[in-house]
Amino acid sequence: MDKNTCPVCGYDGLYEPPYNEKGSGSYEICPCCGFQFGYDDFPYEEREQLFAQWRERWKNGGKKWFSTVRRP
Ligand SMILES: [Zn+2]
Repeated sequence: MDKNTCPVCGYDGLYEPPYNEKGSGSYEICPCCGFQFGYDDFPYEEREQLFAQWRERWKNGGKKWFSTVRRP
């Protein structure tokens, strides 16, 4: 997987890797699904589950592009 890829939706144009080597979030908001790394993924122990839940919600919402200013 590309370093700057969103673990939720797979968008690969993030400015920074979502998590650094210490596992801290970048606080960047994915312009695609709207997930904020280091904020929407609390508690960290359940990160994978939260990713999956967010992904489901995003898919059910019609996979809308989150940002109105950043588009591919
Ligand atoms: Zn995303």
